Amino acid sequence: MIIDGKQAAAELRVELALEVKKLKETKGITPSLTVVLVGDDPASQVYVRNKVKQTTEIGMISNEIRLPETASQSQLLAQLSMLNDDDSVHGILVQLPLPKHIEESVVIAAINPEKDVDGFHAMNSGRLLNGEAGALVPCTPQGCVILAKQHLGDDLSGLHAVVIGRSNIVGKPVALLLLQENCTVTIAHSRTKNLPQICQQADILVAAVGRAEFVKADWVKAGATVIDVGINRVEAEFIEGQERGKAKLVGDVDYKAVSEVCGAITPVPGGVGPMTIACLLKNTLEAAKLYG
Ligand code: NAP
Repeated sequence: MIIDGKQAAAELRVELALEVKKLKETKGITPSLTVVLVGDDPASQVYVRNKVKQTTEIGMISNEIRLPETASQSQLLAQLSMLNDDDSVHGILVQLPLPKHIEESVVIAAINPEKDVDGFHAMNSGRLLNGEAGALVPCTPQGCVILAKQHLGDDLSGLHAVVIGRSNIVGKPVALLLLQENCTVTIAHSRTKNLPQICQQADILVAAVGRAEFVKADWVKAGATVIDVGINRVEAEFIEGQERGKAKLVGDVDYKAVSEVCGAITPVPGGVGPMTIACLLKNTLEAAKLYG
């Protein structure tokens, strides 16, 4: 089974649009998201455009603030301070990566945790770790769990989940979410020994490595649910000066071979990626409901 992230994201947006309408009618609150983009990285511009478009499509307010590549860290922090103080702003997202002269951790710490719709602030990671209410949870990990449930149903209790990757934005939070779902969770990383054997035990295998087609078919248990977070650009091959094939995006999983063995798999593109933006909208609505 191919787990269709585009379809799942579209369904989630329909649900969110209804909730946005209800919040407007009952409380007079229209959730609003402000995206801050520093510099003119082309990929970031595309991401921001998509976020803005999808935010307005479900009836929320979207604002975009652009600062030049040369903007200083203190200019950015001053901008964030204004947004923190502005009651009409429910969600603040600073598009990453930032130019090299700006320290990401300082910027993330400067966002009011109640408006931190990326869920990267230490207050939100702490709440997620403690299982406390009110956490805004990172978007990609939320998307991974929703997609796993598409195939497995809502009860993931007792399943063995193996997460490859331990980054703060994907690996660690997805492991914590799966633990909250009562999975038995193993986190693997670059120093893990016997990685193929560990992956073979997984009922749910989440790959968040950043290496093209890293997970091979003989690492995957028959019938497992495979969630591929990776987005890797593979350049076209040149043979004797002739371009063969085209540059393309591939995941961290050897999709063709693994799909012969597993029970369900997310494709790249069209799997986890679309869910990430849908979950950003979900967090913005959540922030407006909790703190607006
Ligand atoms: P990251 O910060 O680079 O983390 C990669 C993780 O993989 C690290 O924990 C690293 O281990 C581990 N790793 C690297 N080589 C390994 C190996 N040989 N064996 C086992 N583990 C290994 O990356 P990230 O930000 O988590 O992102 C991971 C992938 O997801 C990337 O392709 C990224 O583009 C993609 N992504 C997609 C979305 C989306 O919306 N679909 C969102 C975010 C990220 P160490 O900690 O030991 O170094």
